[in-house]
Amino acid sequence: MKLYLATGNLHKIEELQAMLAAANLAVEVHTPAAVGGMPNVVEDQDSFSGNALKKARALAAMLPAEDWALADDSGLAVEILNGAPGVYSARYAGEGASDRDNLEKLLEMLKDVEDADRSASFRCHLALVSPSGEEQVFEGACHGRIISAPAGEGGFGYDPIFVPDGFDKTFAEISSAEKQALSHRGKAMRQLVDWIRSRAG
Ligand code: IMP
Repeated sequence: MKLYLATGNLHKIEELQAMLAAANLAVEVHTPAAVGGMPNVVEDQDSFSGNALKKARALAAMLPAEDWALADDSGLAVEILNGAPGVYSARYAGEGASDRDNLEKLLEMLKDVEDADRSASFRCHLALVSPSGEEQVFEGACHGRIISAPAGEGGFGYDPIFVPDGFDKTFAEISSAEKQALSHRGKAMRQLVDWIRSRAG
């Protein structure tokens, strides 16, 4: 099975490759570069699934007839902000904002919010489109809280201010293997792996 991942993010591609290899599945992961690059897709849907499906369908339309397309969309949902930044996580502080700008905007929005009310969850939705156009969506969530000042150097995005439930360290202070075991993306990818395995079996 050949799977094209609708991203240019090498980190995500390596993560998926490692997970599929560990599961002993005969899946080749490719980037859109192999088919002329990812088509330009405006992520204007109001749900993670909507955006992930939009990207997966756009990529599927460019693939050889027997190949599969996979896309992900993810973000952080803060309870007291009614789920914001949500699908706007990557551009919370405006178009072209850096991870640091977004994180600082979130800290500013929460500056008067007590510890007990700082619950949040990371979400990841993975959309898979089969060669015949059949669609599957796999979802992963990781619950935790937003602390008031960044801690740790690892990871990316909102990692330095997110402490997963049951831990006292941020995602930026734990190893990438530990993060993958808990994270929204790790959970969604494990569901995908289980689905491929059940289909192969
Ligand atoms: P994308 O789905 O990779 O485009 O991610 C959307 C945005 O959500 C990123 O730019 C980050 O701001 C945030 N995000 C998603 N997953 C994570 C994570 O694992 N750690 C920190 N931030 C994340």
